[in-house]
Amino acid sequence: MSAIKKVTVLGTGVLGSQIAFQAAFHGFDVTAYDISEEILEKAKARFAQLSEIYQADSVVAATREQAEAALARLLLSSDLGEAVADADLVIEAVPELLALKRETYTRLAALAPAKTIFATNSSTLLPSDLKQFTGRPDRFLALHYANNVWRFNTAEIMGTTDTDPEVYRSVVEFAKASGLVPIELKKEKAGYVLNSLLVPLLNAAAGLLVDDIADVETIDKTWRIATGAPVGPFQIYDTVGLTTAYNIASTSPDPRSQKFAALLKEKYIDKGKLGVSTGEGFYTY
Ligand code: NAD
Repeated sequence: MSAIKKVTVLGTGVLGSQIAFQAAFHGFDVTAYDISEEILEKAKARFAQLSEIYQADSVVAATREQAEAALARLLLSSDLGEAVADADLVIEAVPELLALKRETYTRLAALAPAKTIFATNSSTLLPSDLKQFTGRPDRFLALHYANNVWRFNTAEIMGTTDTDPEVYRSVVEFAKASGLVPIELKKEKAGYVLNSLLVPLLNAAAGLLVDDIADVETIDKTWRIATGAPVGPFQIYDTVGLTTAYNIASTSPDPRSQKFAALLKEKYIDKGKLGVSTGEGFYTY
């Protein structure tokens, strides 16, 4: 069993709410912190929705009692000092803005007790970008969840050269104890393991499409039949969401990415087709 018992999650947005609920569902005492009471009201609604999802999704098939017990283990707070006062682990899931994260760690460093481990859920920043603001680089690392954590339950764990190996191990144990499959990275790497594999695949698929080499269905079919994968790259785009795909493609200097961004906007986003979440993207659901 993990030495970590009390967990505090900073940020109750898309990922923070899932991280908090997943840990509470697996028996941890969780405090969910966000910046205002108003936002915490929205968090309550997110947790109620997650409680329904954990019961309805056959992957979890939670009983009502289990879902209610998870909700009962969740405490909400808009007072950072109070939220972290006795935390063994703080998982940070605040917006992906370097300055905001640095400011958050600076405040946290002053308020959390010396025992507390800090973990960032950042998708694109390296823990080295943040470690000097934590006041405890040896007790800091990245713990990266996937969206829809109850179903896509990888936990990519990535330390810096300063991370104490014992801290790393205790976070691996925490991941296992909270129903996740720990993915242990030996070194820092932008994109972790998953996006290091996935992003080149998705970019290559976009390139084949905008260069008019093959259509969406043909590209996906090729990948499925020839590799045995259950889905092709454009089915993955639909799951990730076309707005996210657009945001990434439109900021790339690569002219093919720009062309793909324009195609996404014109044919899909402007028509409200954002992928699985809206019932239509490259495919209809
Ligand atoms: P989000 O915008 O949905 O939620 C962010 C939350 O943080 C909001 O509730 C906001 O009120 C709160 N917040 C803002 N400032 C804060 C502060 N100073 N202290 C505490 N909370 C604050 O964002 P998200 O999609 O949940 O992403 C959060 C982090 O998770 C990012 O680092 C992102 O890279 C990472 N992540 C996101 C996904 C995803 O699919 N959305 C997947 C993996 C990792």
